[in-house]
Amino acid sequence: MSKSRRLSPEDDPDTSPTVRALAYAGTHEELILGSRAYCREAAREYDIDVDLSLVEWEVSTRAKRRAAAVKRPRIPEAEVGEPIEWPAAARRARSSLSNLRECTLSLTWAAFESFEVGEWTSTLRHEMIHVEQFQRYGTTDHGPAFKERAESVDASVRCPPFADPKYVLTCSDCGTVVGRRYRECKLVRQHDQYRSSCCGAVVACSGPESD
Ligand SMILES: [Zn+2]
Ligand SMILES: [Zn+2]
Repeated sequence: MSKSRRLSPEDDPDTSPTVRALAYAGTHEELILGSRAYCREAAREYDIDVDLSLVEWEVSTRAKRRAAAVKRPRIPEAEVGEPIEWPAAARRARSSLSNLRECTLSLTWAAFESFEVGEWTSTLRHEMIHVEQFQRYGTTDHGPAFKERAESVDASVRCPPFADPKYVLTCSDCGTVVGRRYRECKLVRQHDQYRSSCCGAVVACSGPESD
């Protein structure tokens, strides 16, 4: 048995093509496209009642603690648990219906970079429950109803924080990124025992210091 194993981005058997594409997003635009595609898929899979056509997307490079956030208008008297009458709320707010119902899902670039893709998709499901509540009730919080919904879609109840550094694994010949890991793990420690799928060359690992 050979000691060296091949490593390529397609090697993760557990994830859907959508999640794999998302994991390798390299630009803000790819992050938005990938996250939106994932949310569409997850809304069906987890039965989350959201109208994604009313959601705008942005990438934040400034947010420091929150992995993502839903920005939305504050609607007086809206309460989780009480379905909102949108036309009446728009009249009271002297706003157009579409403006009032729209919210923005703000994605934190540094969080995406520091998360395993599974943590990122869980973050997106958390935010989608906020969107679901907002679209239904005109507001959202982290109360008991949120907790129940978050658990049912396998997402954390609190907004996921982020901090961890990352390791990037590249082909030592051509520089192609062949993997990313977000914790020190066997692959990070023994990266020189792996060979890249592109060139069959040694896999190099850049740690958090050299980033
Ligand atoms: Zn939250
Ligand atoms: Zn290569």
